[in-house]
Amino acid sequence: MSETKTHGFDTLQIHAGAHPDPATGARQTPIYQSTAYVFRDADHAAALFNLQEVGYIYSRLTNPTVSVLAERIAALEGGAGAVCCSSGHAAQLLALFPLMGPGLNVVASTRLYGGTITQFSQTIKRFGWSATFVDFDDLDAVEAAVDDNTRAIFCESIANPGGYITDLDAIAAIADKVGLPLIVDNTSATPYLCRPFEHGATLVVHSTTKYLTGNGTVTGGCVVDSGTFDWSASGKFPSLSAPEPAYHGLVFHEALGSMAFTFHSIAIGLRDLGMTMNPQGAHYTLMGIETLSLRMQRHVENAERVAKWLEADPRVDFVTYAGLPSSPYFDRVPRICPKGAGGLFTFAVKGGYEACMKLVDSVEIFSHVANLGDTRSLIIHSASTTHRQLSEAQQVAAGAAPNVVRLSIGIEDADDLIADLDQALAKATA
Ligand SMILES: *Cc1c(COP(=O)(O)O)cnc(C)c1O
Repeated sequence: MSETKTHGFDTLQIHAGAHPDPATGARQTPIYQSTAYVFRDADHAAALFNLQEVGYIYSRLTNPTVSVLAERIAALEGGAGAVCCSSGHAAQLLALFPLMGPGLNVVASTRLYGGTITQFSQTIKRFGWSATFVDFDDLDAVEAAVDDNTRAIFCESIANPGGYITDLDAIAAIADKVGLPLIVDNTSATPYLCRPFEHGATLVVHSTTKYLTGNGTVTGGCVVDSGTFDWSASGKFPSLSAPEPAYHGLVFHEALGSMAFTFHSIAIGLRDLGMTMNPQGAHYTLMGIETLSLRMQRHVENAERVAKWLEADPRVDFVTYAGLPSSPYFDRVPRICPKGAGGLFTFAVKGGYEACMKLVDSVEIFSHVANLGDTRSLIIHSASTTHRQLSEAQQVAAGAAPNVVRLSIGIEDADDLIADLDQALAKATA
């Protein structure tokens, strides 16, 4: 499909990036299960390797099935280009890779997916990178945390797990002022609920493992570039603005303009780091993404009903869902995620840690798993699982205190979900 700019979200989620297969007419995007692609002739091969012509060389770099998914996600986010990769965590590394180097840092929100906090506070140190964590509601602190070695600002739109919504406009204004790209993890919101580029973000990262695939079948990730950041303005991003030694001296920004980041991520990021998405995985995500808007509507509708019911229940201390008027972030919903506050929230059980452990053992429809964004409802006690590696102070800051359970509300009948929580709470608080 062409002219994607003129089509609505529901049309794009089915058609963007896809064409009937030129060889067979197949309507559904085929799974191109091929490692390599035959060159027309020696000149064609040379042009592909020079990035003078766009085409397929080897599936660590690009694959036709994976490319359809990348184009689809770019269209849904309103970006210039996108690169898919093997997981959400791979996407975060891929997004930082062209920007960072030894001694450089990223300023990141304290309210992030637990695995991201570990990746940023521990693992990236092995590359000589570091992260400075700040409360993103304290705008002065965010600006003060930026120093000469900062190369990016990183946050989640709807932050997992604590019912938090980042004021993207305010953070983007700071990023703009200091001349740095804002990277937004839009996994929990999806482009249906939140479009970070419309709030000034430069890059969007996704764990496509979650809502974009939607049914818990494959892990995957994606980095989307807005195409609007001027990589050459400050001299801080030489991988993009100066001759790149890893690609025979190509100046990516000069040669490729708004597609510089995307091409760099393929030609160097995927080529040398190798965290490629496979075509079978892309196929599952392409199947799921066709119904994204329909599922997100139901996730939101169900989450609102379950959250309201829990908030009114005497066995519950509090519920942190931004869709409830009691949430300090309720006022941000219409501006940041106008179609709803998502399907994830936490609630505190009277009886603390012990009662939470009993609750997760007593549910019947909810599955006790370390995942989110599935059609089926999921429950987890973050403090003893996904956020276990963190200190208690980090757990509390991340919205995963020991007395709190996280729900990922699925698209089942809300009445059944409420009945399940009712019987499990009875057992947990008996
Ligand atoms: C799951 C998740 C990730 C990591 O994604 P994987 O696909 O598991 O690597 C990153 N950010 C958020 C918000 C997530 O929910």
